[in-house]
Amino acid sequence: MSEKNQYSLLFEPLDLGFTRLKNRILMGSMHTGLEHDGDEGYQRLAAYYAERAKGGVAMIITGGTSPNMAGMAGGDAAEVFNSPQQVPNHRLVTNAVKAADPDCKICLQILHAGRYAPTPDLVAPSPIKSPVITPYPPKELSTEEVEQTIDDFVNCAQLAKQAGYTGVEVIGSAGYLVSSFLLEKTNKRTDEWGGSYEKRMRFAVEIVRRIRERVGKDFIVIYRIAAMEMMEDGSSWEEVVTLAKAIEDAGATIISTHFTWHEARVPTIATRVPRAAFAQVTGKLRKHLSIPVITSNRINMPDVAEKVLAEGCADIVSMGRPMLADPEFANKAKQGREDEINTCIACNQACLDHHFKHKQVTCLVNPRACNETELNYLPTKAPKNIAVVGAGPAGLAFSVTAAQRGHNVTLFESNMEIGGHFNLAKLIPGKEEFYETLRYYRRQIELHNVDLRLGQKVTKEQLQIGDWDEVVISTGITPRIPAIEGVGHTKVLNYREAILGEKPIGKRVAIIGAGGIGFDVAELITHSGRSASLDVNVFAREWGIDFENHPRGGVQGIQPKLEVADREVFLLQRKATSLGRGLGVTTGWAHKLSLQRKGVHMIAGVNYQGIDSDGLHITVNNEPRTLNVDTVIICAGQESLRTIYDELNESIENLHLIGGAEVAMEIDARRAIDQGCRLAASL
Ligand code: NAP
Ligand code: SF4
Repeated sequence: MSEKNQYSLLFEPLDLGFTRLKNRILMGSMHTGLEHDGDEGYQRLAAYYAERAKGGVAMIITGGTSPNMAGMAGGDAAEVFNSPQQVPNHRLVTNAVKAADPDCKICLQILHAGRYAPTPDLVAPSPIKSPVITPYPPKELSTEEVEQTIDDFVNCAQLAKQAGYTGVEVIGSAGYLVSSFLLEKTNKRTDEWGGSYEKRMRFAVEIVRRIRERVGKDFIVIYRIAAMEMMEDGSSWEEVVTLAKAIEDAGATIISTHFTWHEARVPTIATRVPRAAFAQVTGKLRKHLSIPVITSNRINMPDVAEKVLAEGCADIVSMGRPMLADPEFANKAKQGREDEINTCIACNQACLDHHFKHKQVTCLVNPRACNETELNYLPTKAPKNIAVVGAGPAGLAFSVTAAQRGHNVTLFESNMEIGGHFNLAKLIPGKEEFYETLRYYRRQIELHNVDLRLGQKVTKEQLQIGDWDEVVISTGITPRIPAIEGVGHTKVLNYREAILGEKPIGKRVAIIGAGGIGFDVAELITHSGRSASLDVNVFAREWGIDFENHPRGGVQGIQPKLEVADREVFLLQRKATSLGRGLGVTTGWAHKLSLQRKGVHMIAGVNYQGIDSDGLHITVNNEPRTLNVDTVIICAGQESLRTIYDELNESIENLHLIGGAEVAMEIDARRAIDQGCRLAASL
């Protein structure tokens, strides 16, 4: 394959004086949880990072590692790196990366979780409890303990050097310990580590200064700065610049910008955030510094990264989740194969949501992420003829993986396009990234010669008489229509009809069912104007961010302003719990807040009594109520579509059922893709 230079800036080396980055692509820090599995966990971590090194990134930042027991972000001692005895485990990682590509750098991220640590022994500058992540109040560090904590950072950096890392990144953002020293609201100290901004920033500056002193000149030291906290009472722009300059003077090699605290209520990485929305802030800071700067957040394709560099917003582009989604991202970009990139859709469903639920991290679109030692798509020695029925996420994942292994795959789809439910998801404002997943599968189908038969409703007989070694049924689901009196009324639509715009939707609407799809439908029908995820100015208005004037935290004193459709919407569920509980940990709050700001009425504990020309009759806590609506949209989950499987069950030997067709209760793209890939790997 000939190499194109379409991304000339992205592939320009960067001279750091004592060393050089081969290009501008950085794999940003991502928690994996693999280290929790002891020695085997480190073997798996080594394989995970080595695959990204082989994929062409210039530098990798590891997941956060705590310098002491109080700072564990995941509550597991395995995350702590404070003793020479742990060096051999880390050596496994650094050696694997060097073996994969001697030119790839790897830096250890030092993360002290501070008041976010999910442990009763957590510490902070002041005893102020975090509103998120942990239920425990922190203990105030004594002046001696502050000194000891700085020593712990320095010790960790020294151990990192011993273990073969090329450098360290100190995370000074996100609300973790270092950043909590910076703000008055979390630092009420009266000793030399609190009071004026000069004193509050000393902790960050001293960590960098003393690390540099200990590790010498030829070691990368990155400081991750909170360039915007997205909170009232965050840092002023002058404070951000003052800190960045002081960090440069203290000996940092690179400054990396970050744009949130975990307790902030502005989304900064979810799919509803426009691509590269925050790069302009990095660009503004870059003008004040002479060392290179890194930008990040929602940069998920090479053209976006190239544009960020072309606009002078950064020297290096960090992509964490995109490297989970596709370890070969950099090589594909370099070789002009960007249409083969499996794009991160910023759903957070299998990465950050898993991390915060203490589950092993992986990726919705790439189940091999963090499973490199056990899930492999090896070339088959015995190619089979395989029929696949249904080109939704499960059928697609199976087909392209099996074909990539060398099997002959015929994929039947009754619709005229592939994608199943992804074709609904892509139409929801803020979920446009699903177009990329469909583009990826289209390209993989071409590349691996899957025989795609669109518009073909395959029959039982075709499958019985065909020369198939294996038959895979991935026929998906159909919307569930609950047995409510009057459900056949003309004012009733299922969610499919609503999303595809197949029937008109009135001004007053009740939505039955408040799962992921109920929320999506509410978002769609209350939406007006341009999707915020496609326009950074609309996004800034919706969430009250001022990129130009940069008030404190980027948001101080600004009221979010949404363009709201002229429609009154009731979102209903039978459970008595608060609506949105089942949505993603890291994204659900933003969905809910957005709908609340649009005035959507959310009602729990509903019993549906009937639908007629007066509207929807319900009881709430046994009180009868009529919602005088002109449209009722049913979003009450799904039922499996598996007739063909049941018909064939006795007559075909190697028959498999996957995805929503197998378990509709959990139609979930993560499970569907994972199941499709694992089955394909096993045949
Ligand atoms: P869901 O999450 O299972 O929600 C179905 C809703 O319908 C629930 O609120 C349920 O709650 C209600 N319901 C179920 N049976 C009912 C009945 N017989 N009568 C009335 N109400 C009934 O299903 P979904 O919203 O269709 O989503 C399907 C899958 O898509 C999910 O598993 C999710 O993984 C995925 N998805 C995720 C997102 C996301 O943002 N992460 C977005 C879209 C889809 P009550 O019984 O309490 O009323
Ligand atoms: Fe990206 Fe979603 Fe994969 Fe996370 S799970 S890396 S957000 S595609």
